Amino acid sequence: MHQLHFSFFPLIAHGHMIPTLDMAKLVVSQGIKATIITTPLNESVFIKAIQRNKHLDLEIDIRLIKFQAVENSLPEGCERLDLVPSPDLIFNFYKATAMMQEPFEQLVEELRPNCLVSDMLFPWTTDSAAKFNIPRLLFHGTSYFALCVAESIRSHKPFKNVSSDSEAFVVPNLPHQIKLSGSELSPFDRMEEETSIFHIFKTVRESVLKSYGIIFNSFYELEPDYVEHYTKVLGRKSWDIGPLSLCNRDIEDKVEIGKKSSIDKHECLKWLDSKTSSSIVYICFGSVAIFTASQMQELAMGLEVSGHDFIWAVRTDNEEWLPEGFEERTKEKGLIIRGWAPQLLILDHQAVGAFITHCGWNSTLEGISAGVPMVTWPLFAEQFFNEKLVTEVLRNGVGVGSVQWQATACEGVKREEIAKAIRRVMVDEAKEFRNRAKEYKEMAKKAVEEGGSSYTGLTALLKDISTYRFTYI
Ligand code: UDP
Repeated sequence: MHQLHFSFFPLIAHGHMIPTLDMAKLVVSQGIKATIITTPLNESVFIKAIQRNKHLDLEIDIRLIKFQAVENSLPEGCERLDLVPSPDLIFNFYKATAMMQEPFEQLVEELRPNCLVSDMLFPWTTDSAAKFNIPRLLFHGTSYFALCVAESIRSHKPFKNVSSDSEAFVVPNLPHQIKLSGSELSPFDRMEEETSIFHIFKTVRESVLKSYGIIFNSFYELEPDYVEHYTKVLGRKSWDIGPLSLCNRDIEDKVEIGKKSSIDKHECLKWLDSKTSSSIVYICFGSVAIFTASQMQELAMGLEVSGHDFIWAVRTDNEEWLPEGFEERTKEKGLIIRGWAPQLLILDHQAVGAFITHCGWNSTLEGISAGVPMVTWPLFAEQFFNEKLVTEVLRNGVGVGSVQWQATACEGVKREEIAKAIRRVMVDEAKEFRNRAKEYKEMAKKAVEEGGSSYTGLTALLKDISTYRFTYI
């Protein structure tokens, strides 16, 4: 038997590349060869981790293709979603990704992998895979829950039965009674506009139906009703193999995920070690989200009102958000990381009692895997759906009251609400939240151990692909 070869092609955004690298590490640990295809600027996201793990004989290659940023009116070097200077240019970014098709196919012809794992936002790769008679597996990078909610909203359009965007409706035909309002939906969920970006999402959905199957960074025990709903009711073929981040076991692996961390790991650990168990709040809104200065100020004041110690990853260089005297007043209580935080290292520390998150799926699952209760502040993408999973189904978190889907944090979340949510999770209902969070942490750990549901999912996936090779070639 020849060695199987998987090619991975993630969207060039940290939230997609980080789990893809973990997926590649997982499959090579099973004796499979992996190639990650990306653009020159993003090689650095993968290269260090691959070099660090060389002693484990991990056979992961990286191959690069040009990204035509300037040709699509993007700034030179704009090769990652967080580098797109304004929301108006997102369509140009997707257009540039579609222009990778030709060089991508030349590379696939040369590599001849047995299977292609590509991002949901590269719908054209279904056709590329078909040209070479290989299965395309789609990596969605979100929860089963979010996809079931999105599908129900698109099919039933429940937002049309209410009189305003602030009035709640029940999402039909789901295992739980989930309420949302129109303001929490994206234009793509509503499917009402014939815009260019709308067209991209339409092709994405069509490619889901045409692809060989879908890989989820999730685990069965976390959302069993939604795994069943997605596979049995909606009839999709899928494998759940997460939480992928749990493959990062060494401190070095946890420190350098995605980017070089902006704080020295010893300094960070020293600060965390000086705090008592479950006493601090960790705040981070992922790799793309943008906060207005006024919402940052509300958060700063909310933290101060809550009285808890905190560690806060701040992505902006602009210091205007800092309330006067805030840093001085909180210097004993707070650590501000300007730039990239070693999130896995922080979340795994026993000092962390709550995680204020935007509900990006990676962050949500990393919080769950670390057993940390959450305070949720969604902004865009499917983050409002992930919030509902946390606050209403898993019940291991509380929302701050963010209700408006948009690219930047909406105005209106008030310091009192933030402090109240922190207090519920850290003090008033701490015991219940912590117990539930610990249960999910244990389940996550078991899922990826030998014999666990995700371990079995990965075995089933590899078996399926090796059989495909003999059936179809
Ligand atoms: N991340 C990190 N440090 C940071 C910001 C983000 O390590 O300062 C990682 C985080 O652990 C997660 C990913 O970046 O793995 C963000 O993905 P997520 O889906 O949560 O959010 P997105 O960035 O896609 O909005």
